[in-house]
Amino acid sequence: MSEPLRFLNTLTRRSEPFEPLEPGRVRLYTCGPTVYNFAHIGNLRTFLFEDVLRRTLAAFGLHVTQVMNLTDIDDKTIKGAAAEGISLRAYTDRYIEAFFADLDTLRVQRAEHYPRATDFVPQMVGLVQRLTERGHTYEQDGSTYFRIATFPGYGRLSGIDPDQVRPGARVDSDEYEKEDVRDFVLWKAAKPGEPAWESALGPGRPGWHLECSAMAMALLGDSLDIHTGGVDNIFPHHENEIAQSEAATGVPFVRTWLHAEHLVVEGQKMAKSLGNFFTLRDLLERGHDPVAIRYLLISVPYRQKLNFTFDGLHAAAAGVERIGNTLRRLAYTPAATGEGALAASEVDACIGEYDAGLADDLNTARALGAVHTLLTKVNQALDGAGIDGAGRARLDAAFARVGAVLDVVPAQAGRSAEDAAIDALVAERTAARKARDFARSDAIRAELAVRGIILDDTPHGTVWHREA
Ligand SMILES: [Zn+2]
Repeated sequence: MSEPLRFLNTLTRRSEPFEPLEPGRVRLYTCGPTVYNFAHIGNLRTFLFEDVLRRTLAAFGLHVTQVMNLTDIDDKTIKGAAAEGISLRAYTDRYIEAFFADLDTLRVQRAEHYPRATDFVPQMVGLVQRLTERGHTYEQDGSTYFRIATFPGYGRLSGIDPDQVRPGARVDSDEYEKEDVRDFVLWKAAKPGEPAWESALGPGRPGWHLECSAMAMALLGDSLDIHTGGVDNIFPHHENEIAQSEAATGVPFVRTWLHAEHLVVEGQKMAKSLGNFFTLRDLLERGHDPVAIRYLLISVPYRQKLNFTFDGLHAAAAGVERIGNTLRRLAYTPAATGEGALAASEVDACIGEYDAGLADDLNTARALGAVHTLLTKVNQALDGAGIDGAGRARLDAAFARVGAVLDVVPAQAGRSAEDAAIDALVAERTAARKARDFARSDAIRAELAVRGIILDDTPHGTVWHREA
């Protein structure tokens, strides 16, 4: 790659060239779902950003080890399981299965590890013990808390001022606002009706923040290259992760922090009460194409707020269709040679721009723009002098590169059974025209038009595409 990868690091607030700690290998931790319900499109936007990140790192020649935790014990999962009167495991299993189904539907590549928090309780207890040995904790009513005053770097990620913390003021809930900055809970004392583990810290269960630190360090080591999440994770979750991890190890926990902005729906915050709350299932039930949903959710660079609208989803579907139509035209048009054919260098220029977009802090809008410029050039060439063999080989490589990261080529761009049936009708029409049987040729065109198939009679023969 000509351009080095650069990321805007939340920690330093600067755009920095990316260099992994170990050359060629990336240790990536991505905060995963709390498995207490179906993921909504705002969550999915973050998971898709992480998929683009993972695929971009790989496309730039890096070997990625990605960990995504499954938070199967926290305030929310416990409450959900209790409300249904089933075990925490049975309750969270259901949503873990649904989560993976959603990832597959949206073509999200699998991480190397999906640890469940409840499988790492001994490591969490061990981390608290290390913190205690180093004087960063205290116990109160059977719970263990992290004393923020013992960690001078507290607040560096989120920009909060730790001096405003009243000594001894504590917070027990997993999620809280900046106004509530206090010593946070590492290990929660057992409560009646809640799952609990016997441990050296007394009977209880881990706090949410502790889970991520313990699993990240257990699977990736004390220092990670990249840690990601949504902007709402910056405080308190990631601030607390840094404090727990660095206070225990004495080494930097994460070099590069990346955070995806919120998604809003038709300009409004998504909320069940507003009737604008959507899961992937909701959109699929309305007949929307998963590839178009993927396209829309990755089309806005992750650091910008994404306004999800149904107009936008239709535009995304048209974008996907345009890619499929162009690839189909290309597949059915014989190679041309000579003057005016699309040159390999023009393809290279587009793909260079595509790579530069991704290298620029995953600027997916720029990368998609380059893809559409390429589609325009291909269509112009197919309308005119054609594309020669070298140009085609370059295009194959270019579209493979697009598939490797953005992955928004429609499934039907390959030849389906339906495509083959259309091919047969188009061939029959060509034969009819040759035989000057215009009644039959017009009838075939009309029949295909009803099915949304448009025919173009080009100098290289008849090609077809689906109506966008
Ligand atoms: Zn996390």
